[in-house]
Amino acid sequence: MASEFVFHGGLVFTGSGSPLADHAVVVRDGRIAAVVPESEADLDTFPDSRRIDLGGALLSPGFQDAHIHPVGGGIELLQCNLSDAADADDTVAIIRAYSQAHPEEEWILGGGWSMDHFAGGNPRRELLDDATGGRPVLLQSRDHHSTWASTAAIERAGITAETEDPADGRIVRDIDGSPAGTFHEGAGDLFAAVRPATSADLAYQGLLRAQEELIALGITGWQDAMVGADSGGISDPLAAYERAAAEGRLLVHVVGAQWWLRDGGVDQVARMTERRERAAAAHPDRRIDLGTTKIMVDGVAENQTAAMLTPYRDESGHDTCNHGLSFIDPDRLREYVTALDASGQQVHMHALGDRAVREALDALQVARDANGDTDGRHHLAHLQVVSEDDTTRFAPLGAIANIQALWATHEDQLDDLTLPFLQDGQVDRQYPFGDLVRQGARLAAGSDWPVSTADPLAAIHVAVNRSYPGSERPPLGGAHQRLDLETAFAAYTSGSAYVNRRDDDTGSIREGYLANLVVIEPNPFRLPVAELHRARVTSTWIDGRRVHTADALASTSPGTDRKESR
Ligand SMILES: [Zn+2]
Repeated sequence: MASEFVFHGGLVFTGSGSPLADHAVVVRDGRIAAVVPESEADLDTFPDSRRIDLGGALLSPGFQDAHIHPVGGGIELLQCNLSDAADADDTVAIIRAYSQAHPEEEWILGGGWSMDHFAGGNPRRELLDDATGGRPVLLQSRDHHSTWASTAAIERAGITAETEDPADGRIVRDIDGSPAGTFHEGAGDLFAAVRPATSADLAYQGLLRAQEELIALGITGWQDAMVGADSGGISDPLAAYERAAAEGRLLVHVVGAQWWLRDGGVDQVARMTERRERAAAAHPDRRIDLGTTKIMVDGVAENQTAAMLTPYRDESGHDTCNHGLSFIDPDRLREYVTALDASGQQVHMHALGDRAVREALDALQVARDANGDTDGRHHLAHLQVVSEDDTTRFAPLGAIANIQALWATHEDQLDDLTLPFLQDGQVDRQYPFGDLVRQGARLAAGSDWPVSTADPLAAIHVAVNRSYPGSERPPLGGAHQRLDLETAFAAYTSGSAYVNRRDDDTGSIREGYLANLVVIEPNPFRLPVAELHRARVTSTWIDGRRVHTADALASTSPGTDRKESR
């Protein structure tokens, strides 16, 4: 009895469909022991201290983020963190303050600046020179696809007017060809040799900080969208996960998507499956799973590296000859995906433009033809532009739409930096989640944090409204692309659990499942949809243990009547 308690008095979202009213959820030894009508729950047999009155709140399975970069996000919180900057002036003020507070740092590193705060999405180096007294500075953009560098950093890297753009990136230049300060995509790698590496310890501290932040948002498991490689000066996050697991500090369960080297060959498959087997043997509790491979099919739309079926337009609206980039030749992509699928490795593809989505689906089709249905649970993340012809292809291929719903709204980055450069009518093909659901596609959901906030409830608000709280703008792509609240919640719980291959014990409130739970209030299923953003996670539970309580409720313990504590 010691580890047994019961939630009652609220609504229970079980992972799909309408929430249950008047039901109790009994938790025993870290798992869900029963989900029963309150009248059958024998609430009286529980001592007061073991009864948790939800007071009308929602009990949901813990959220699972199907595409996130927690170690980088956590490190950013610990470094020069620009993610809260409101505009360009604010951004520079934060950098100046950080520089003054850290005179001992030879390099200033960090990120989170927003492209839409700067003309053309390209901030200049002089701003950094001035704010930091001429120190070398490297700051990642919020979406991590661009690097902002100071003059000293550019000089140390030896980048000049003569330096050519790399094949997978672009140096923003002044008239005379000299670097202006912003480096898109692969051009950021020009600093690889000189930028100081992140220490393993900082990565570890970043992971722990991230875990705390994410648990507070109700996230109890995730798919890390990039492990097994160094990135942007951050060493492989896997070491941080392993250390956290070894020290008993990894509370969430993690699927690590092993990074596919674009220039590497098909022999990467054997290495990845071997790593997967080793991790499975080392973690019988399934805390760390490496059964996924991350492939970047294309870039992003803001800097016109997303692979499109139609050409980008220039500033005056004329077609250019740029269709974006396929980072991997489509024939090779088919070969790699087929080999991964055959080896039992899931494929997690970054596919953002409509041509990238098509190339990814084509690859899955070839794999299906070769291998049959392997239950691979392959997924396509981002899906910014999806051709109408392709939304129907997800369901028959078993391809899962891994959505970042927070982006599915009119906002400056989309309206100023993307839509004017796409063909007319493309606005209707942005993030077509409603179409995908109607065509039977399974959804999973994630944030891509630190690209954008990791808050699942903020994303769910946008998924349901297709606009930000208080926005006057019409729903992006039309009202038919909205998701209903049950579907949005299912994507973030049972849907992501399916992608994470943890649908057998997480993502649903069901007898025998792990008691990974969140309490949310006000209850989103009782709010007008325009007010969903008001809902907050008030407590998070992992393995039946409360691991987070919002401040207002900090005094409660299991069984304290929540209504009394308000
Ligand atoms: Zn990502």
